[in-house]
Amino acid sequence: MTALDHTHDVNAHSWLESANAAGADFPIQNLPFSVFRRRGTQQAFRGGVAIGDQVVDLAALAATPALEGAALQAARAAAQPALNDFFALGPAAWRALRHALFALLKDGAAPGQLALLRDCLVPQREAEHSVPARIGDYTDFYTSLDHALNCTRLLLAEGDVTPNFRWLPIAYHGRASTIGVSGQTFRRPMGQVMPPGAKAPLYQACARMDYELELGIWIGQGNAAGEPIAMAQAEQHVFGICLLNDWSARDIQVWEMAPLGPFLAKNFATTISPWIVTMDALAPYRTAWPRPATDPQPLDYLDSPANREAGAIDIRLEVWLESQRARQEGRGPARLSSTSFRHQYWSVAQMVAHHTMGGCALNPGDLLGSGTISGPGPGEAGALLELASAGRNPVPLGDGDERGFLEDGDAVLLRGWCEKPGAARIGFGESRGTVLAALR
Ligand code: MN
Repeated sequence: MTALDHTHDVNAHSWLESANAAGADFPIQNLPFSVFRRRGTQQAFRGGVAIGDQVVDLAALAATPALEGAALQAARAAAQPALNDFFALGPAAWRALRHALFALLKDGAAPGQLALLRDCLVPQREAEHSVPARIGDYTDFYTSLDHALNCTRLLLAEGDVTPNFRWLPIAYHGRASTIGVSGQTFRRPMGQVMPPGAKAPLYQACARMDYELELGIWIGQGNAAGEPIAMAQAEQHVFGICLLNDWSARDIQVWEMAPLGPFLAKNFATTISPWIVTMDALAPYRTAWPRPATDPQPLDYLDSPANREAGAIDIRLEVWLESQRARQEGRGPARLSSTSFRHQYWSVAQMVAHHTMGGCALNPGDLLGSGTISGPGPGEAGALLELASAGRNPVPLGDGDERGFLEDGDAVLLRGWCEKPGAARIGFGESRGTVLAALR
């Protein structure tokens, strides 16, 4: 796990005032990465780091004398239209750039340096983003026990999760081609649906459109085929974490997923937030990874003292829905649920160790979905399926509308942040995606 250092100091401030505002997502302790360009231009996309309401343009910064050594090498790698080469440099390079940016952005930076950096800032409101890396492979996990229990009861009418759930982090290999960055719109998919009691499936537009609140785990350095990543090294292979919405067509899913798992119900769209919060920035929010004594204990290859001590991360998460009507009438979105990633049954390190145990190679820029994040309490479910009991108890939106499943024009917003006494609040920004009518 990352040790705390001066870049986590709750009392550190930036000369950029917007970074010091209470509740800001991007204070100097955060410094998340994305790929961006000025909106509406044909500029090349390049890496950027968020500070307050600005983006530090890493391509511009790498061309100044402000950086040297490992930080300069890292900024050059991150100045490309995709962050894969930067990811491949590994934790020492990532940290060198974080520390250099911190020194340049903090109160009391040398006036000459400050002037160099000021010329590299682009307002976030003038930026547009792309998917931050070329995603070679995408894997979606299923690691929330509360979500798994809810789904098992609602979709399969069984009392408990499958016996493997408590022994290994379940996952399926997903599809990278339709992963889009916040702002993504997509058409409601057509597909095969088997109505209850029917003898043959119907070909129709999905009638049970849902979202899944997840986190995206970005692989930094990969591993060679045949060389598993052990628990002790697993997090050194993770660059950082973003918000991820695994849009799900529930009616298509229940018919197609036996016996090999989700296919078309999941591969039409996945929306991620543009900003990747680094594992370094998340260090203050590590918390114990508990496994009840009454549950199976992890096999050795999935266990480590560090994981038990601090394998979980307290990332607060919220899902909001903005209907087309709310948007047209100028109202804000309605909050559907809130929870924390700390409830997850399997940790990030366990997902990486398990994924590679048999010799599978991970590559820089691979993306792991955490699986839907549902907490134990009411209002903590990460999918509408659970909140609305498979459509039986529609969720009120507070304006007379309600939702059993998503309707055309609905936008789903994911938000995430970390906060606790003695540490700086850091945020993930937002992931927003919108369902459009099916192309019939
Ligand atoms: Mn999922």
